[in-house]
Amino acid sequence: MDTAADFSQARREAKALIGEWGMPREKACRECKRIVTGNKCDNCGSTNLTPHFSGLIVVVSPEHSEVAKLLGITKPGRYALKVE
Ligand SMILES: [Zn+2]
Repeated sequence: MDTAADFSQARREAKALIGEWGMPREKACRECKRIVTGNKCDNCGSTNLTPHFSGLIVVVSPEHSEVAKLLGITKPGRYALKVE
């Protein structure tokens, strides 16, 4: 068994993983404040996204959350408190 080769293979895989997951470019939707990782909001379909947002709330069950009601959130997910 060639452990040196195994090690470099493991390092290549780790590097590939870091390349893919190390810097998630999260953006917030300006329309509904949902945090998305793509180029389109999966909640309202808007492409009006901004990487500049502050605050983060995780809504698990919007029907039982006073904060979600205040912010008008109806779908579970992660939302920014403030978008610029
Ligand atoms: Zn949206």
